[in-house]
Amino acid sequence: MKIAVDLHIHSALSPCADDDMTPNNIVNMAVLKGLDAIAVTDHNSCDNVEAVIKAAGNRIIIVPGMEVQSREDVHLLCYFNHLEALREFDGHIRKYLDGLDNISEIFGNQYIMDERDQIIGERKEMLLSSVDLSVEQLVQLAVNFGGVAVPAHVDRPSYSIISQLGFIPPDLNIRVLEFSHNSGSIVSQMQEYQRIISSDAHSLGEILEREMFLDVDNVSLTDIIQWLTCPCVI
Ligand SMILES: [Zn+2]
Ligand SMILES: [Zn+2]
Repeated sequence: MKIAVDLHIHSALSPCADDDMTPNNIVNMAVLKGLDAIAVTDHNSCDNVEAVIKAAGNRIIIVPGMEVQSREDVHLLCYFNHLEALREFDGHIRKYLDGLDNISEIFGNQYIMDERDQIIGERKEMLLSSVDLSVEQLVQLAVNFGGVAVPAHVDRPSYSIISQLGFIPPDLNIRVLEFSHNSGSIVSQMQEYQRIISSDAHSLGEILEREMFLDVDNVSLTDIIQWLTCPCVI
C-alpha cells in the first residue's frame, strides 16, 4: 500500500524554525493534510521528538529522527525504529558538537517542549553547526545504533552531499537520497538510489500535502525504516 509521508520537518528546537512549530501544531497540521507518517528532524538534536510522539498518540506515525551536520557540512537525516535508539545516537553525537553557545537574538530560539507545547527548556549549545564526525562515520554510526541515514536535499547548492563532496562515495551505506520539494532534474549518477521528497519545513504551511508516497506492506514504523534501509531500487 502507498502511504503519504513527510520525513523532514523542523520544530521550534531548530533555531531557524518558527517558534510556533510546536509538537501539537506540527502533528495537527500533518493530520489535517492527511499524512500517514512524519519525522521531526531537528538540527543535531532529538530533544522534541518524544513530545511529538506523545502529541501524536495513534493519529499518525512519527519516525524518530534528526538531521545531523557532518564535519564536511553535509546534512544527513538519520532515522531509527525506536525513540530510545535515537536518544542513544543523539547522546553520542552531542559529544562532537563544537561547544559554542547559541545567540538566540541572532539565530533564533532552541525551545525544548513537552506534549502540551509548554516550553520546558532551551538548548544552550548552537545546534546549527557541524559535529566533528565525517559523513562516513555518521552513516556508520546511524547503522550501528540500528538506524539508517539519508543524505538530505541533495539537489541544493549548500549543505548537501553533492555540494560539499562533489559526489556520493560509492561504498557509503545508503540506498535513499532526499530531494527538495519541487526539485528539478536528477543527475545520472544518482539514478541507482531511491528518491524521496520532503518539505524540510521550517514553518507550518510548508509541510507536504499527500504528494510523497512510500510503497509498504503495512502502515508501520518498522515498514518505513525497512523501506529507507532497502527499498526496491528500480
Ligand atoms: Zn538541511
Ligand atoms: Zn532540515
